[in-house]
Amino acid sequence: MKKIIIAIDGYSSTGKSTTAKLVANALQYVYIDTGAMYRAVTYLALQQKFLSSSEEGKGKQSIDEQGLLTALEQSAISFRYNSQRGASELYLNGENIEKEIRSMTVATYVSEVAKIPQVRAYLVNLQRQMGDQKGIVMDGRDIGTVVFPEAELKIFMTASEQIRAQRRFEELQQKGEEASYEQVLKNIQERDYQDTHRTESPLQKAEDAIEIDNSDTTVIEVVSQIVQLAQEKIKA
Ligand code: C5P
Repeated sequence: MKKIIIAIDGYSSTGKSTTAKLVANALQYVYIDTGAMYRAVTYLALQQKFLSSSEEGKGKQSIDEQGLLTALEQSAISFRYNSQRGASELYLNGENIEKEIRSMTVATYVSEVAKIPQVRAYLVNLQRQMGDQKGIVMDGRDIGTVVFPEAELKIFMTASEQIRAQRRFEELQQKGEEASYEQVLKNIQERDYQDTHRTESPLQKAEDAIEIDNSDTTVIEVVSQIVQLAQEKIKA
């Protein structure tokens, strides 16, 4: 059976990951969460002190880009499937950092790190290698525009800011992370701004992407819509 590449892009907390994961399961495709990879680089930057977090998100942070790039080149970023959770988890140099990369601290700095052109070039290269056999669902901000402009199916997901913040807030609460709704909303607004205004591969809808607003739809509805679109492409 023909295999295709499905690119799912969109704003922060639009449910891309949940949707992409379920679409991948339905088609028995591999799911790759590229946001997790940018988060892992941010975690590395914080852990090895290439990023000063002293001001806790206020004001301008300084990043030792060269130091970070050298450390990145010497690091191994990979996904490993956790059969108990039925999901892939991110490993950095053999350490499972799935929980750490979802923290508010990482979320505060990730868009700064994702602006660095060499970080993007490094991760885009890894992402292309991961997708070279096709049969993948990859979610992020630049998958349909930069990583796989030739992807057979491109989806651009949106939802209202308030709905996204509420969903993310509930998710963090379930994980026991301390953050207020206002903080989460502010983080989403800031990341949207930074992601759409950066010079290097800004978040934008690919011309041939299908836009799906999931403010008022269930995850299941969106998943079945995408699976149907994928099946049409596979048959074509
Ligand atoms: O998808 P997620 O919210 O986990 O992504 C975290 C951040 O990583 C985004 O806000 C964005 O700054 C960056 N990112 C990116 N390009 C991607 C995926 C994520 O710049 N393909």
